[in-house]
Amino acid sequence: MNKFGYTISRDNQIDYDKVDRSMAAFIEKNEPTFRICIQCGSCAASCSAANFTRFSFRKLCLLIRRGLTDDVQKEVSKCMLCGKCRLVCPRGVNTRNIILNVHQALHKTTVYEL
Ligand code: SF4
Ligand code: SF4
Repeated sequence: MNKFGYTISRDNQIDYDKVDRSMAAFIEKNEPTFRICIQCGSCAASCSAANFTRFSFRKLCLLIRRGLTDDVQKEVSKCMLCGKCRLVCPRGVNTRNIILNVHQALHKTTVYEL
């Protein structure tokens, strides 16, 4: 068989009717501003953690909406809760409280709204 140095990409189609929405629903209930994120990326551009890692709050929100809990768990620990993203967000999304709710959803611990 000939090898051409490339392969067909993995199917990345997302069926939003089938994703696990439990974490997204939990966050929306506790922090309604999660709904109004417009994925502009301002938070990612100013993120302290992004200076040292590939972390992006915008991407974290996407992973939550897609129900990719394992990926969310790997990513969320990179956030230092510095709060810069909240200051620059044009929609007033309470980013830190969303991060805390992610931890709460993952570990079922008690956290308090900042
Ligand atoms: S800055 Fe605000 S609106 Fe823009 S992607 Fe980040 S959280 Fe969403
Ligand atoms: S709170 Fe987290 S996501 Fe926001 S700027 Fe700081 S490290 Fe980045």
